[in-house]
Amino acid sequence: MQYKIALLRGDGIGPEIVDSAVRVLKAVGEKFGHEFLFTPYLIGGSAIDATGKPLPEETVAGCLASDSVLLGAVGGPKWDTLPGHLRPEKALLGIRAAMELFTNLRPAKLYPALKAECPLREDIVEKGFDIMIVRELTGGIYFGDRGYREGKYGEEAFDTECYSRMEIERIARVAFDCARKRRKKLTSIDKANVLETSRLWRKVVHEIAAEYPDVELQDMLVDNAAMQLVRNPSQFDVIVTSNMFGDILSDEASQITGSIGMLESASLGNTKRGLYEPIHGSAPDIAGQGKANPIATILSAAMMLLYSFDLADESAAIVKAVDKALEDGLRTADIARGGEALSTTQITDEIIARL
Ligand code: NAD
Repeated sequence: MQYKIALLRGDGIGPEIVDSAVRVLKAVGEKFGHEFLFTPYLIGGSAIDATGKPLPEETVAGCLASDSVLLGAVGGPKWDTLPGHLRPEKALLGIRAAMELFTNLRPAKLYPALKAECPLREDIVEKGFDIMIVRELTGGIYFGDRGYREGKYGEEAFDTECYSRMEIERIARVAFDCARKRRKKLTSIDKANVLETSRLWRKVVHEIAAEYPDVELQDMLVDNAAMQLVRNPSQFDVIVTSNMFGDILSDEASQITGSIGMLESASLGNTKRGLYEPIHGSAPDIAGQGKANPIATILSAAMMLLYSFDLADESAAIVKAVDKALEDGLRTADIARGGEALSTTQITDEIIARL
């Protein structure tokens, strides 16, 4: 099979880590008999430098004409003082909107080989955890009515949380489908004791649950969830939640894994075409030094194989090769704890050798 992949390398370490993932994908293609065709497009600061815009039209058109998109990271000090509409980060919102992506999948998994990186208590670490957070990406308070007005105490600002039944139904189905492929447990997180949007969220999620009798559904209030993530993370399989709660909880979950260079993500919409990217930024402090950990991007490519191309065996082969490299003690500087550190290229070679 042939698959067209748009590459958005971006800025900082973006090009280094995307190139590593491309090498791994090429190796998987050779092993399993697929052809991946890569086309690079500009995004972020490098796009501003070349075209004056963080998200050129050719980039959007190229992504929409591809089967899937792999993104590195954008941004850096060079562009930090530009006005809001010209900031590299604007391109991320723009490309997600153009591709109509409404789901963000963020796994947070503790690698047995990296237990020492986990900041939690030893007895909690021993139990391990493997969580998939399903965050709604296009609704809620980040997109609701907002503004300034004169209030009881003078100038005030407001933001509005709004969710439609349709938006809740579609994200709930994604989450139930995801739980069905994993350990069949779904925790829906809301603030139904206070918020009307959460009460609709809870009602609709329970209606959809009737379509998935094989998946166990649990409700949890967001304040409790924030506690439970550090108290007993092994209780979670799949979590589904709104845009803002998901933003905060997925960052909390990433921190308990202890390794920002290891975490992949996927943004999905109604089609198979997704946007896959590491959760970390462009790490300008280590850019161009060959120190970046490419694993989050390599695992993002593995998610692409699974979710966009239905290549489950090929995806699993990448995950297994990464696991093996870690078990064999191979580390980049961010996870080496002062021990021997491999370069971006060296760890990529080792992962490819274990495919
Ligand atoms: P960052 O994630 O880039 O870096 C935080 C720290 O983690 C740094 O010390 C960095 O060296 C380290 N780090 C991150 N990824 C690593 C990797 N793969 N291997 C080894 N070490 C890694 O966050 P920041 O420093 O707050 O932001 C830097 C720039 O990235 C800013 O311009 C910010 O706006 C941008 N940013 C972009 C995205 C994105 O493109 N999705 C996300 C977050 C931040």
